[in-house]
Amino acid sequence: MPNQGQTGAVLLVIFAIAIALVIIYLIFRSPFHYPYWYYEIDISGRREPQYEDYIDRFIIAGRFYSVQKHYESIKAWKEECRIRIDKSVLKNYRNSQFQKCLDDRHAFQFKFTRMQTRYRQVNYIKHAYKVSNVVGTFLCTYEYLLDRKKQLEAINYEMPLRAYFIKNQRKLMTKSLREKIMRRDNYTCQICGKYMPDGVGLQIDHIIPVSKGGKTTESNLQVTCSKCNGHKNNRIQPSYFLQ
Ligand SMILES: [Zn+2]
Repeated sequence: MPNQGQTGAVLLVIFAIAIALVIIYLIFRSPFHYPYWYYEIDISGRREPQYEDYIDRFIIAGRFYSVQKHYESIKAWKEECRIRIDKSVLKNYRNSQFQKCLDDRHAFQFKFTRMQTRYRQVNYIKHAYKVSNVVGTFLCTYEYLLDRKKQLEAINYEMPLRAYFIKNQRKLMTKSLREKIMRRDNYTCQICGKYMPDGVGLQIDHIIPVSKGGKTTESNLQVTCSKCNGHKNNRIQPSYFLQ
């Protein structure tokens, strides 16, 4: 059976080893933490939110300056890291840690949240309360946001880019293009085959809807009667009609 002196010495050695391990861990762990930028956008009540529209609105609202400011601070942070690496005795090791933590591709992060109503009971009385849940994130580079900003600047920050280009697609539908498609399709509905030589009751239809990225080009246009055009949404998304 070991005497008290021996037990004390063993404990001391274990303690010293533990301290040494902590010091080694502190020395070798990465001192670099990439400075991400976060922004929360509440999309409660929106059924099919387009994240890029919200980012455009964020820029239209004049908030790009915070992106710009953060971009400058990322540059300053990188500079500080380089000075730190240069001073370090573990130069190569620190440099590889630094390279590993760099993440410019995801530097800017938009978090989309929805408010949800929850309930709890207190003394048999129902109480509603709201919680905010992150339902999506959009990660991008500074360059992406800068490019977005330049495109918005070019259209005088009028509206989100998607809406702007949709509007312009509709503007491209001129009277002469309309007549050309009518003649090409011989005043005949291209869905049901109904022939209406006077053209009344016929419409020019985008085969791929503008809202889904369809363009106002001859190959994406066809003549339909108003009845078929009215059913068109079912035809474009036919999943439950085909069953
Ligand atoms: Zn028809």
